[in-house]
Amino acid sequence: MQEKRQKVAIKEGLFKIPSSPQEKGYLVGVKCQGCGEVFFPRRSFCAWCSSPDLKETPLSNRGKLFTYTIIRQTLPGSAMIAPYAVGQVVLPEGVTVHTAIACDDLNDLKIGMEMDMVIEKIKDNEAGQEVMGFKFKPVAKKR
Ligand SMILES: [Zn+2]
Repeated sequence: MQEKRQKVAIKEGLFKIPSSPQEKGYLVGVKCQGCGEVFFPRRSFCAWCSSPDLKETPLSNRGKLFTYTIIRQTLPGSAMIAPYAVGQVVLPEGVTVHTAIACDDLNDLKIGMEMDMVIEKIKDNEAGQEVMGFKFKPVAKKR
């Protein structure tokens, strides 16, 4: 029997890791109870109205590609192997997420295209846990 390995987020509180294959994870934002503005990643007070009353809220897993750039050199020690893309995805909540982008062919990326959030293993840590990160990838085209 294969032992189920523990999964940990690359940064605590950034997203909810699915606990079963049926579940989808989600990014964890915070919503200002004063003005309704939503933020990601979380912050301790509202950037608009300064209210400290922010409540955790699950964010949508689908958004639109706002902008991106292609990285052509792998940084020393980086888990990301060039070429790869990073960019900004805007979610329906009005949140802009800075994110790595997964795409088989980087030439397929288009501003405004629909993107899905995915939670994937980045590496193993010294404790033998799987370190998970999130990315966005283009929504699979229907053929
Ligand atoms: Zn506010």
